[in-house]
Amino acid sequence: MNADETTEKRIDRLQSGGVIDMHFDLPLGLFWNRGRQGIVAQDFLPQLEAGQASLLGVAAYVEDEHLPDALRVALDQVALLHEEIERTPRLMLCKTFAEIKKARATGRIGLLLTMEGAEPLGDDLNLVRIFYELGLRSICLTHARENAAAAGGIFAPTGSPAHGLTDFGRDLVRECERLGIILDLAHINPAGFEEICALTTRPIIVSHSNARRFHDIERNISDEQIRMIGDRRGVIGVNSILVSPREEESTLDHYIDHIEHVANLIGIDSVGIGFDFFEFIYRQWPESRQKELAAKLTTPHFIPDLRNHSHARNLTRKLIERGFRDEQIEKILRGNWVRIFREWL
Ligand SMILES: [Zn+2]
Repeated sequence: MNADETTEKRIDRLQSGGVIDMHFDLPLGLFWNRGRQGIVAQDFLPQLEAGQASLLGVAAYVEDEHLPDALRVALDQVALLHEEIERTPRLMLCKTFAEIKKARATGRIGLLLTMEGAEPLGDDLNLVRIFYELGLRSICLTHARENAAAAGGIFAPTGSPAHGLTDFGRDLVRECERLGIILDLAHINPAGFEEICALTTRPIIVSHSNARRFHDIERNISDEQIRMIGDRRGVIGVNSILVSPREEESTLDHYIDHIEHVANLIGIDSVGIGFDFFEFIYRQWPESRQKELAAKLTTPHFIPDLRNHSHARNLTRKLIERGFRDEQIEKILRGNWVRIFREWL
């Protein structure tokens, strides 16, 4: 930083290396809009470019009503993603660290295929190999549900299933670690969280969660869980839609309180971004479905000035205002995720 640099210039400089968001429901969005073409170019590219997004973890996720057909629906989402990438020169599917670097060097936005909930795999370990070949590079074993691998953490302070992984879940974790599919502990219940930590040795991540200290639900993570990630040199991506149970406290400043809390507990090298921008799907839902989500899980509180990728600049501006140093901001925006990719991919 030099004294003459304006804040906007400083934001430009800090973001010029790119911004990495490890949780975006793009494949689900494509599935919701199947039949339309060029969705990324029309709906998302302007925002991604305005926010200097350089890489997104894009999650295949199967909604409850499609669970009987989970494998086919997940494959549909992957096919739609591949098709969008093919028709959008600015995008590149990344399967290796070398490809992540290549996307950056050629000015493209890298996409890393992830999976949120192992339901598409059923209890068939061979399928994880197939998804790996299709590009899967990170997996959350569960969403809020229970499946053949594990149980999800619920959106309440207590009451998640007490058990950890099933035999299949343990085999799946070992296979992911062997193949090089990053293990993501977002959503899983506390027992499963602890078990995956005990079973693995590589740095594990939590792609999109918040601190229970500020929003006490089992879907978020406790200080003890945050320390477990720190002990493993993992990274926690801070989520923008669960920063507080109260709408009026769902602010950019409070988002940064979560970043600070994680950094204070386990250091600046273990905190990143997992925005979970979800409004583009939520707004397409009829009111009945929004009410169903509120009853089943929660009402997401979208932060007014952090609701799509163009708002990454607001985050950087606020980190500057809150006194974060350049090298700290660069680690939060991308550097810490890059380290994880280097170690896994
Ligand atoms: Zn999620």
